[in-house]
Amino acid sequence: MASQLSQEIKFLAGVGPRRADLLKSELGIETLYDLLYYFPYKYVDRTKFYTVREINDSMPFVQLVGKIIQVETSGVGAKARMSAVFTDSTGSIDLVWFKGIKWVKQTMKPNATYVVFGKPTLFNGRLNIVHPELEIHDDSKTMISGSIQAFYNTSEKMKSNYLSSKAILKLQANLFASLKDKIPETFPAWFTAKYKLMNIHEALRTVHFPENPDQLSAARFRLKFEELFFIQLKILSLKSNRERRFKGHIFSKVGDVFNTFYYKCLPFEMTNAQKKVIREIRKDMGSGHQMNRLLQGDVGSGKTLVALMCMLIAIDNSMQTCLMAPTEILAIQHFGTISQMLQPLGLSIRLLTGSSSVKDRRLIHHELETGAVDILIGTHALLEDKVVFQNLGFVVIDEQHRFGVAQRAKLWHKNTIPPHILVMTATPIPRTLAMTVYGDLDVSVIDELPPGRKPIKTLHFYDNKRKQVYDFIRKEIALGRQIYIVYPLIEESESFDYKNLQDGYEVVCKVFPEMKVSMVHGRMKPAEKDKEMMAFKSRESQILVSTTVIEVGVDVPNASVMVIESAERFGLSQLHQLRGRVGRGAEQSYCILMSSYKLSKESNIRLDTMVRTNDGFEIAEVDLKLRGPGDLEGTQQSGIGFDLKIAQLGRDGEILSHARNVANDILSLDPVLTSDENKLFRQKLSRMRNASFDWSSIS
Ligand code: ADP
Ligand code: MG
Repeated sequence: MASQLSQEIKFLAGVGPRRADLLKSELGIETLYDLLYYFPYKYVDRTKFYTVREINDSMPFVQLVGKIIQVETSGVGAKARMSAVFTDSTGSIDLVWFKGIKWVKQTMKPNATYVVFGKPTLFNGRLNIVHPELEIHDDSKTMISGSIQAFYNTSEKMKSNYLSSKAILKLQANLFASLKDKIPETFPAWFTAKYKLMNIHEALRTVHFPENPDQLSAARFRLKFEELFFIQLKILSLKSNRERRFKGHIFSKVGDVFNTFYYKCLPFEMTNAQKKVIREIRKDMGSGHQMNRLLQGDVGSGKTLVALMCMLIAIDNSMQTCLMAPTEILAIQHFGTISQMLQPLGLSIRLLTGSSSVKDRRLIHHELETGAVDILIGTHALLEDKVVFQNLGFVVIDEQHRFGVAQRAKLWHKNTIPPHILVMTATPIPRTLAMTVYGDLDVSVIDELPPGRKPIKTLHFYDNKRKQVYDFIRKEIALGRQIYIVYPLIEESESFDYKNLQDGYEVVCKVFPEMKVSMVHGRMKPAEKDKEMMAFKSRESQILVSTTVIEVGVDVPNASVMVIESAERFGLSQLHQLRGRVGRGAEQSYCILMSSYKLSKESNIRLDTMVRTNDGFEIAEVDLKLRGPGDLEGTQQSGIGFDLKIAQLGRDGEILSHARNVANDILSLDPVLTSDENKLFRQKLSRMRNASFDWSSIS
C-alpha cells in the first residue's frame, strides 16, 4: 500500500505524461502521495440546491439541477460563443461559454440530468450563467455537487492546460478509486483512540470530499494535529537526546565577582523579572546539563544586564565567557557599557570584530588561549576557527534572530564540554512560533520593563505634515533631547518615491542649521561609524540620521524621538525594533511614522498596529497573520522547514500546544521511543531525520 502511494502520478487515470510534467513543475507533485497531501485552500458548501424560479442576480453562486437543451454556437476565434438553455420544472436560464467551447460541446451529454453551478447574472433582462461548472447528476460519493466542494490552488499555466481546481478534484477522486487498500494508519491504534482522532484514510478522504462541516473539521484537526505533532516530537526528542548526550559545566558557586558587582556596582535595582530569569539560568548552569536557553524580552526590558550577571557567575567558576552581537555598532556599544560597568572588578574584557587590526587579533587570540581574557565581546568574528578559548563556559548570543542555527553550533564546539548558551531576542515572536522555531530551547521571559518608563507615543503623519514634525523636533531638542531619523535606503535606487538617506541628511542639515547632525549607514568604515555614534551618544550631535543599522540594540537613553521615514516600507518587527531605540530614559518618548498617502492595505494595518500598541507580542501576532511564519525573521535560519501543508501557526496555536504536550508525555515515558507501542513514531522520526538536515548534533 505504501508502495502504491509512492507510485508516479503519471500512471494515475486522467494524468498522463503532459499533465504529470505540469503537476511536477507547478506544484511539486510527483507521486500519488504528493497529490493526496495537496490540500484544498478553501471549500464551498454545495449542499444547497435552488430552482430556477428561486434565483436572482444578487446571489454569489447557485446550484441548479436540470437539463440542457438548445445548444447554439456562433462566431469564430476570439468572437466564438456558445449558449445553451438550461431548464428545470420551474423555468429556464441561459448558459454561456466564450472559451473551451469545443471541449464543452464534445463532453456534453444530451438528455442527461446536470448539476449547474455558477454566478447568476442579468443580461438583456434574462438570467444567465457564464462558464458554469457542469456535472452529471449521479449519487456517487465523490460527486462535487451535494457536498462541500474543495478548491485547490492552481497556476495560470495549469488552468490554460485544463488543470483547474476542479480537474485536481477529479484526480483526487480517481486516486481514491484506484486505491486497493485503505491508506495505512500513521498513528498507533491506542493513540488515535486515546486522543480521539479520525483515522488517516477517513481524514484524507474527507479533506478532499467532505460530506458535512463537522466531519470536515474533524478531518482537518486530525491532519493538522499530525503535522504539528511530528514536528514537536522531532524537536523534543532532539532536545532530550542532547540533554542525555552532553554534560554541562557545573557552576556551583556565586562568588566574589558576582557579589561585588551586585552589591557595589549595580546602578539600579533589578526588576523582579530580571531576578527571576537569573534564578532560572543559575539553576540550569548548576544542573550538570548543558544549558540552551532563549531569553525573550521586549526591547528595553534589560536583557543585557541579565546576560552580564550570568557571565559573572561563569567567571566566578573560573570559566571564560563571550557575547556575540549581530552588528559592529552593537558589539562596540556592549563593549563600552560592559567595560564601564565592570570597571571596578578589574576583569579582562576584549572586543573582537571584523575590523579589529591584525595585530589586535593576534594578541586577543593569544590571550584567549592562555585564559587571560575573561569576557570576549564581538561580532561574527568570534566564530572563526582561529578563536580558541582556554576554557569557554558561557556564551551569550544577542539578537539571536539575526543568526542561524549553524552559528550557534559553532560556538558549541569551542570547548570539549560545550558551553552553556543563552540566546536573546527582542523580536518578540508569537508563542506558537517560539514553540516551533525555538522549540528545542528552554525559554525565559522578561515580562516587565524597568520602572519609570513612560509608554512611547506613536504617531503617524503623511509627508505633507513634515513641517509640523520638524517644529516638534525643534521643541524636543530645545528640551535637551536627541532625535533619530531613519531612512529605508542607502542610495537612491528602485524608486524615487523613497527617501534617500543622503538627500535626507542634506535636508535635515538645512532645516536645522543650528544643530549638529550625525549620520551612520552600513557602507561606512567602522571607525567612521563609531565616531558618528560616539558623537551622538556623548550628546555632541542632537540628530542622528541613519539607515536601519541602528535597528537592534543601540541604547542612547537621552534620545526621545524616533522618526521613521517611508515607514510603510518597513516590516512590523523592524518598526517595533526601531521604536525600541527610544523610551529608554525617564522622559516621554515619541515614535513618528512618516508615510506617503498611497498605502497598501497591509501597510495601513502595520502602521495602525504600531500606533495602537506598544506590546511586542501583540505586534508579533499581527505580523504572523500578515506574513505567515516563513517570512518572519529568524524562521528561515531556524533549520525547520515551514512547508506546513495544512496547519497554520498563526491560527492553530491551540492544536500546536496540544500536540506539544502530547509529544512531551510520550517522550517522558519513553525517551528514545523503544517500546513496541511507539514503534510507528520511531519509524516516522527516523524517516524525517533522513529527509532533512539533521541538527541534533548541534543544538
Ligand atoms: P534590551 O532588553 O532591549 O537589550 P537593554 O539591556 O539594552 O535592553 O536595557 C535597556 C536600558 O535599560 C539600558 O539603558 C539599561 O541600562 C537599562 N536597565 C536595565 N535594567 C534596568 C533596571 N532594572 N532598572 C533600570 N534600568 C535598567
Ligand atoms: Mg539588547
